[in-house]
Amino acid sequence: MKDQKAVVVFSGGQDSTTCLFWALKKFDEVVAVTFDYNQRHHQEIEVAKEIAAKLNVEHHMLDMSLLSQLTPNALTRNHIKIEEKDGEPPNTFVPGRNLLFLSFAAILANQIGAKHIVTGVCETDFSGYPDCRDVFIKSCNVTLNLAMDDQFVIHTPLMWLDKAETWELADKLGAFDFVRENTLTCYNGIIADGCGECPACQLRKRGLDQYLQQKGGV
Ligand code: ZN
Repeated sequence: MKDQKAVVVFSGGQDSTTCLFWALKKFDEVVAVTFDYNQRHHQEIEVAKEIAAKLNVEHHMLDMSLLSQLTPNALTRNHIKIEEKDGEPPNTFVPGRNLLFLSFAAILANQIGAKHIVTGVCETDFSGYPDCRDVFIKSCNVTLNLAMDDQFVIHTPLMWLDKAETWELADKLGAFDFVRENTLTCYNGIIADGCGECPACQLRKRGLDQYLQQKGGV
């Protein structure tokens, strides 16, 4: 799909950075958009800026602080401890976050004449986040097209991948080392392999170990 423009919803984490590489390969022109909602680690914003600059990608930063105002939880408040209880969404859950992000990404896309919107949401390990599910994305795509009388296509390259397969995709895109060394996943704000202890680091490490094992084993 050359000669086409895409907007990538971009947080500076492993998933959205992999999506950014995917979009750079697929589309002629790629723009990244990051939402600032006073997330737990403001460093996330700095990391996103640095990655966009390194990849020479036009980067938009949108203020979404109202999200933090509406949902005081472990993702938006530093003093709240991150907890995950069985059968419940983790207390980092911000209801409707992807709905808002995709709506604002679509408004930006409409303004700059982009038809493609790329997001790193994933149903495989969606951790109870309902707006990471494929059915939501499809519904949202229809709604956005109707809302703006536009013909957006929302792309979700990671939708059915597990964490090991996401590393595999980064590797196929020639981005394995870049993603490993430059992205921020850790809830404690430590770049690359992170603190190794928080749930986000553990999930990332499990996927990475699994991928490296598979790769070494064959
Ligand atoms: Zn960590």
